[in-house]
Amino acid sequence: MAIMKNIPKVDKVLAWPVVQEALATYPRPLVVKAVRSVLADLRAAALGGAISPDTSAEPILGARVLAELASLSSLSLRRVINGSGVVVNTNLGRSPLPESVREGLTEVAFHYSNLEFNLDSGERGSRYSHVEKLLCELTGAEAALVVNNNAAAVLLALSSLAYGKEVVVSRGELVEIGGSFRIPDVMLQSGALLREVGTTNRTHPRDYRQAVTAETSLLLKIHTSNFAVVGFTAEVSAAELAAMGSELGIPVMADVGSGNLIDLAGTVLAQEPTIGAYLRAGVDLVTFSGDKLLGGPQAGIIVGKRKFIEPMAAHQLLRALRIDKLTLAALEGTLQLYRDPRRALAEVPTLRMLTAPLSELKERGKRLVRRLRRELSAEISITLTDGLSQVGGGALPLLELPTALLSVAVAGLSAQELDRRLRTGNIPVVGRINKGAYLLDLRTLEDADRQLLSDALRALVS
Ligand SMILES: *Cc1c(COP(=O)(O)O)cnc(C)c1O
Repeated sequence: MAIMKNIPKVDKVLAWPVVQEALATYPRPLVVKAVRSVLADLRAAALGGAISPDTSAEPILGARVLAELASLSSLSLRRVINGSGVVVNTNLGRSPLPESVREGLTEVAFHYSNLEFNLDSGERGSRYSHVEKLLCELTGAEAALVVNNNAAAVLLALSSLAYGKEVVVSRGELVEIGGSFRIPDVMLQSGALLREVGTTNRTHPRDYRQAVTAETSLLLKIHTSNFAVVGFTAEVSAAELAAMGSELGIPVMADVGSGNLIDLAGTVLAQEPTIGAYLRAGVDLVTFSGDKLLGGPQAGIIVGKRKFIEPMAAHQLLRALRIDKLTLAALEGTLQLYRDPRRALAEVPTLRMLTAPLSELKERGKRLVRRLRRELSAEISITLTDGLSQVGGGALPLLELPTALLSVAVAGLSAQELDRRLRTGNIPVVGRINKGAYLLDLRTLEDADRQLLSDALRALVS
C-alpha cells in the first residue's frame, strides 16, 4: 500500500503554512482535531482503494483541513428554508416569530430588564406578571400562568390539582404527541392516578359519572389534536363535561394543545374553537402551546380560575418549569398582536401562512418562478404546479390546504440527490418529493427566503 505510506503524519500537516495560518484564527485543539479527521478519512479511502496519489498532496489536504475547520466551527442550530408545506413544522422549530417582536426580544436579550423587578414599587416583581393581564384580556380568564411548554403546563396543573388523587379521562383522548411524549405518561409523572373511561371510539357522560369517586380530583378533556377517530364515535364535549363537573363539585380542565385566541370563522381554520370559548363553556382550566396555532415562541399557557392557578404559581415544580426571559419577551409581543385579530392574521406568520388563499400563493409562485429563471442557469428547471399543504404540529390532521408548488429539476440529478444536496448545503432547504418530483411549497416559503433560495439553487450547479 504505497498510498498509505504517502499519507503524512499529523505533525507534518500541522507544520504546513496553510495550517499554521489557520492557527491564528482557530484554537489549536480544534485544528488538530480537523487534521486528524481529514487524515482518518484519507486512510479509510485508501483502504477502500478509492484515492489517487495526489490526494495526499499539500494543496488538496490543506484545503480539506480548512473546510473541516469551517464545518467544525459552524453553528449546529441554524436557519433553514421550509419548503415542506407543513406550517407548524415541529422538526423545523414550529413557528417563526412575528417580525414585530424582534425589537422587544433583542432589547431584553442584550440588556438588563425588569424581568422580576416592579418598577413602580422598586421591589421584587414576578416574571409571570408581564403576560398575565394580556392573557386574561384575550381569553376572558380570571388568571393565567405561563411555563416552558404545554407538556410542562399539563404536568404542573396535574401535580398541583391531582397529586395522589384520581383524574378521569376518556380512553379516546390518551394521545401520543410525537417525540414519544404520551399524555398518560406525563400524568403518571405528576403523581396523579389515571382513571380511564369509555372506549377508543366512544365515551359517554355516564362513563365519567360512574368513574367518579371521593378520590376524584379532576375531569380532564384532551384535544385529540394530531389524529381523528372517524365512523362510529361519541365524545363528551367540553361544555357537557364542564356542566357535569360543576354539578359534582369537581374541577374540569381541557388540554387544548394548539391554542387559538381569535375567531377564525371565514378562514380554513374555522373549526378550531377559541380558548375563550372553552372558558365560557364552563371549563375551569385550559392549557395550550405558545408555538402551535398561536404562532409565538415555545411556551405553555394555563388560563382559568384564580383559585386553581394560585396554587400552581406557588408550586415548587414551577421553578423547574419556568419560562425564560427571551420566551416571555417573544410571547408578550405575539400576544399584543392578538388584540387586533386582523393584525394577528396578517402579521403572525403561522396564521398568515395557514390562511393564505390559493390565488395569492399562485401569484407569489409565478413571480418567484420568473425571478429564479432569470437568475439561474438553464440546467435548473423550475415550474409551478399545485398540490396540498398541511397544518402540522399535531393540529387539524385532516385539513389539507390547496397550494402552489415549485417543482425543481436539475439535469443529471435525481430528486433524491437534489433533496440531499439542498438539505446539506450552506443554506439548508427542506422540500419534499412526490412521484419523483422535488417540490417546494409556496405556503411555507417566506418572502425573506427568496434570495437565499436562489443562492442555494445556484450553488447546485456551480
Ligand atoms: C402539542 C400538545 C401538547 C404538548 O405541547 P408542547 O407545547 O409541545 O409541550 C400537549 N397536549 C396536546 C393536546 C398537544 O396537542
